[in-house]
Amino acid sequence: MLKAVFPGSFDPPTFGHLNIIERASSIFDEFIVVVADNRGKKYLFSGDERVTLLKELVKPWKNVSVVYCDSLIVGFMKKLQVRLLVRGVRGTNDFAYEFDLSMMNKALDAGIETLFMTTDPAYFVLRSSAIRELASFHGDVSAMVPPPVAAALREKYR
Ligand code: ADP
Repeated sequence: MLKAVFPGSFDPPTFGHLNIIERASSIFDEFIVVVADNRGKKYLFSGDERVTLLKELVKPWKNVSVVYCDSLIVGFMKKLQVRLLVRGVRGTNDFAYEFDLSMMNKALDAGIETLFMTTDPAYFVLRSSAIRELASFHGDVSAMVPPPVAAALREKYR
C-alpha cells in the first residue's frame, strides 16, 4: 500500500491544491490531506472550517481523506505510519522554501521522504494569501477556488 500525506494550511483550498490532490490520488493507493493548525499562525478559516471545506472538495476521490493536525507533522506521520510527504511547488521560490522544510523534517526523522510535485501550469499563479486579499476587496475569485470556497470567502468578507 503506497500511502502519502499532503500537509498544508489550505487557508483556503484552491484549484492548485485540488490539482495536486487529483494527480496524487492516481499515484498513491491512499492520499491523506493534512490540515495543519499551527498555534503561532493566524488563519482566516478555523481548522474545522478548512477540514469541512476540504472534505466536501475531495468527495470525487475515494482514496483521499482529510484529517486535522495541530502537532508536528513528522510525529503525526509516525502515528499514521506514513513515510511519504507530498508538497506542491509552483516555482523556484517555492522550491527554496520547500527544500529547507524537507531538510528539517529529514533531520527530525530520517525515515520521512518528501516528494515534490510541480504545479500544473494552469495553476502556478494561485496562492491562498493572494486569494484572501482579493476576496477581502470583494474581487472575483471564481476562477481560482471551487464554488464552496468562493461562497465561504464571500461569507467571511460580507
Ligand atoms: P503551507 O502554509 O503549508 O505552505 P499551503 O496551503 O499554502 O500551505 O500549501 C500547501 C501545499 O500546496 C504546499 O506544498 C504548496 O506549495 C502547495 N501549493 C499551494 N498552491 C499551489 C498551486 N497553485 N500549485 C501547486 N501546489 C500548490
